[in-house]
Amino acid sequence: MTHADVDTLLATLHPHISFHRVSDGMPPPGYLRPRKDTAAGVRKLSQAFATLFGYHPGCDVAAVALQTPQSNETSKLSISLSPSIPPGFEENAKEWLARFAALRKESRTESESIRVPGGVREGGDAFSPAEKSLILHTHRVCYPAMRRRALTQGFGDWDVFVQGNWQDVATYGDDPTLAQGEHADNTQKFSELVRRFADCVRNSGDSDSLGGDEDVLEFHKLCMAIRDMMSNRGFSAFLNGHICQKPALTYFSPPLALHTLLALSQDPKLALSDQWSCTVLCPPEAVRPFNAVVTKTALSERFGEVHRIRWKLVEQAFEIFVSGIPNWYSTGANYHWNSDTKSLSTTRPVVVHPEVALIQHLLENGVEFEGKVEAFIACSRLPCYASIVYAGMVNQTLKTRFTMDIDDRRCHQLYKAEPWILPEDARPDVVANMKEHLLEDLRMRVSAWVGHRWSDGYIASGLGPDLDWEDSESEWI
Ligand SMILES: [Zn+2]
Repeated sequence: MTHADVDTLLATLHPHISFHRVSDGMPPPGYLRPRKDTAAGVRKLSQAFATLFGYHPGCDVAAVALQTPQSNETSKLSISLSPSIPPGFEENAKEWLARFAALRKESRTESESIRVPGGVREGGDAFSPAEKSLILHTHRVCYPAMRRRALTQGFGDWDVFVQGNWQDVATYGDDPTLAQGEHADNTQKFSELVRRFADCVRNSGDSDSLGGDEDVLEFHKLCMAIRDMMSNRGFSAFLNGHICQKPALTYFSPPLALHTLLALSQDPKLALSDQWSCTVLCPPEAVRPFNAVVTKTALSERFGEVHRIRWKLVEQAFEIFVSGIPNWYSTGANYHWNSDTKSLSTTRPVVVHPEVALIQHLLENGVEFEGKVEAFIACSRLPCYASIVYAGMVNQTLKTRFTMDIDDRRCHQLYKAEPWILPEDARPDVVANMKEHLLEDLRMRVSAWVGHRWSDGYIASGLGPDLDWEDSESEWI
């Protein structure tokens, strides 16, 4: 019953990982970092495609691995999607690859006389035919999902620009000259760009279309103008320090990914062949609900006296977590908490996360480097705690080299992630190692919780006091 063990351990880790996510973050594990000699261009390209595929209509999450065998002329792109393969996806993905390949070819052959610095061509045309073709395809496919996310999520930290009242919220501290300087002019300019963006998203009525080709290209130019300002470090630090916390919005990622594709098409060092093969994996079937009983008795019966874990404290931390944040399990994550039976479960069967399904596929079909399966797994969202641990345990057990983009300090999220279950065909030795890793992690986190239980961070996160500590300290199981 090791699959049930993993469910249970992940449930007990929820409070602790949630705490770290909202407070100081957790350093990403070094074992999944790409090796220094892994081509940065291939990583960026994989990440850009994963982002764009994640905005395909009907797609929630996409994971992508791009591999070029040394002996082979063909680059292999493997794609794993959740929750299913949307209609038209394969055709659209192939179209993307074809247009990107055409753009690379054009960049190689285009004479220097046509392209002048700044990217503007003779005759004032900003984009070449192949660039136009890639831009039009990308926005045609991604704009509907991007727009819908903008309409449902709103403009977040951009609201002060959309409302035009950024001057009212700007705080200049003891340097009032900032209100008049270059940054203030740039903020005004940025504000105008953002308002145009918001108007475009809101004013197209019920239509998810941007209009004709010229309208799409104008929209792209607008997005790039916003991107250019955000990528100015001095200005972005100014925004961050004086006006808004997060100058970037998540649903702005498709134009950024498209910019990456356009830039990489001109990179002569990109280790990629002109031939592509593209495999879209069958999405893993939802096999069973997630289920875990979190009581001291059930935990000690299941795991026994291992790693000196105090199961009573594990139960108490979980109880405080659930009662302190009553809606934490209902944030669209399909969890159900039964306070009578102390069980955390899902009402629907759970799917294996796409990045994990991709790893399972590559174990059988991956490209080897120096005798080891090696791949960079790009994901359209940050991989969750459980997926990261699983990938690490596959590497440790099977001597593979799967790596991921986990530089972001928020990477360790379990709290918001969809429920996680092991793949049916997970290797028993991998599962055994995963269980050991989770137990050890739980032991460390519970010890840290006991050690710092009065600290402000824990109290603010709802994982504060109210425990019968004398009783807890004296009992070990
Ligand atoms: Zn995951």
